[in-house]
Amino acid sequence: MTESNTYMYALLWTCSSCGYVREGGQPKMECPTCAAYKTAFISFPQHLEKEIRETFTEVPPNHKECRAKRMELIVEHDVKEKSPFAGRILPAASGNTMDN
Ligand SMILES: [Zn+2]
Repeated sequence: MTESNTYMYALLWTCSSCGYVREGGQPKMECPTCAAYKTAFISFPQHLEKEIRETFTEVPPNHKECRAKRMELIVEHDVKEKSPFAGRILPAASGNTMDN
């Protein structure tokens, strides 16, 4: 797997506190399961999620067993990619400049 899979990039957000997954967009609020702030969400690799779905075919993606497995994989694969708004430090915070 390489970065060429960008068409699916950032579609899976996982709470790094409890393993709750949110599909189809950035988390806009706190985790509905453990109430962690939205910055606790990290981008979860598609191939790992696939592994989970194939392992737990009979329970929903946010079943506690899936969440536990997700937490295991986060540690195992050292997944720590934060969501774009989670602590990115913008130099000078001059987001309104239009240099191009
Ligand atoms: Zn959570």
